[in-house]
Amino acid sequence: MTALHITTPLVLASHNPGKLIEIRELLEPFGIAVASAAEYGVEEPEETGSTFAENAALKARHSARTTGLCALADDSGLSVAALDGAPGIYSARWAGAKKDFTAAMRRVEEELRARGVAPEGAEGAFICNLALAWPQGTVEQFEGEIKGRLTFPPRGTHGFGYDPIFIPEAGRASFGEMAPADKHRISHRARAFAKLMARLKPEAVSCA
Ligand code: IMP
Repeated sequence: MTALHITTPLVLASHNPGKLIEIRELLEPFGIAVASAAEYGVEEPEETGSTFAENAALKARHSARTTGLCALADDSGLSVAALDGAPGIYSARWAGAKKDFTAAMRRVEEELRARGVAPEGAEGAFICNLALAWPQGTVEQFEGEIKGRLTFPPRGTHGFGYDPIFIPEAGRASFGEMAPADKHRISHRARAFAKLMARLKPEAVSCA
């Protein structure tokens, strides 16, 4: 497989503060300088795709075209088996305009009960699709997943989004209870990043 050549700063095509913090923490140990799309005045495009991969690609392409720099987008979410994969690509939208994840987590619990499924222990997975785009339109994508079980009421104050209701496979603590470094060792995002980093060679990173 060919090594990928990127320019830095790498533009992070996300306005989600929780994600931006995690992506910085995952990339900075590799010496890759990052900047957020907001710093360049890039508006978030509408997520019109029907998969994580489609939405990640459209966000990355939009930031790369607008800034003229390499851009990285993450489209991710929680997929609950008994809810046919919901909230899935709608994970952020379930929190509404106020980004109320307490309400979004309650909705997961209520929708499981409405289907006659016990919320405690229900099977779920976090999925992360990363899209790396170049200004001329090329896109490379990497996907990571972690399976786990749901727990209610939400537990812990670390992380963001649905972290307090997700217990990763073979674990006992929720993502919300885990130190960030422990989440980063196993998360869907870390797994997608490991695939991306395997394709980036240090000598292939240059300043724009
Ligand atoms: P996106 O910006 O449309 O990709 O929104 C993804 C949404 O999925 C986030 O707002 C969170 O609600 C959820 N999500 C993605 N990754 C994580 C995670 O690592 N922990 C908790 N929630 C996550």
